[in-house]
Amino acid sequence: MFKVWFHPLFIVCIIISIALRKMGQFFILFIIITIHELFHILVSKKFHLTCTKWSIIPVGQMASIKNLEFQSPLKQSIILIAGPIINLSMWGIGSSFFISIENSYIHLFIMANFIIGIFNLLPIYPLDGGRILYGWISHYRGNLCGMKKILKMSRYGIFALQVFGMIQIIFYPFNCSLLLVSFYLMYINKKQKLCSTYELYKLILNKKQYMRKKELFELASCTVIDLNTSFLKILQCFSSSRYTIFLVCHPWTQQVQMIFEMDLIDYILKNGVEGTVRDYLQIQSQQGKN
Ligand SMILES: [Zn+2]
Repeated sequence: MFKVWFHPLFIVCIIISIALRKMGQFFILFIIITIHELFHILVSKKFHLTCTKWSIIPVGQMASIKNLEFQSPLKQSIILIAGPIINLSMWGIGSSFFISIENSYIHLFIMANFIIGIFNLLPIYPLDGGRILYGWISHYRGNLCGMKKILKMSRYGIFALQVFGMIQIIFYPFNCSLLLVSFYLMYINKKQKLCSTYELYKLILNKKQYMRKKELFELASCTVIDLNTSFLKILQCFSSSRYTIFLVCHPWTQQVQMIFEMDLIDYILKNGVEGTVRDYLQIQSQQGKN
């Protein structure tokens, strides 16, 4: 079910913009960001994905697309880049054909499209650029590693934004928009870092449900492991966008055995992260004998 959610502070922003007589500028920014989000949704529809929640927050908007994290990194990137591409296209068209019109609102519309397009491509989580990078790293190195790397990158990016935010205040007194956005991003990143284990657990459970409906081997890839591979390593390599089939070579029989990712993860969720693949296979063979 699709729902639109307004952050209470968004209403405060409207009141402030009316009080400062900046309603026109506020409305233009709102339209640009709405078009940006709309394009994420339209492109995701092409891939048969649906938007479940459209959040309107004081520093922007966010469309939550169901099952996006279970798509290939290329599909994720196409959906995520659609927003910045439409902004940069509107900037390109605007600056080629309409820049000569003497109207401050048109100029604002053109420039804001450029700034919003470029800003969203920054490698900061949860901006589009950050999420594209997260998708690719997670696909090859696992979600935990992906999140760790993108949060580290975001730290540097947010610091740079804060430096630019200070410069902005010096040149345009009372304009602290960049600083506000950087503090919001800092808050989101802190929350994400605290919840990373919970997020992984949620991803595992949701992927299980998603896989039930999808063709199981659409995203399959094989990984060779050995009997001493720890469960912790299996969880660290868990990627939401690929379905791993583990191949284990028995040292004494030289036979290769296939283990399906979800069977192994089910076992880990029930029995804990202590242990190795050897424990799993022993239990499986005992159950087979029984
Ligand atoms: Zn976006």
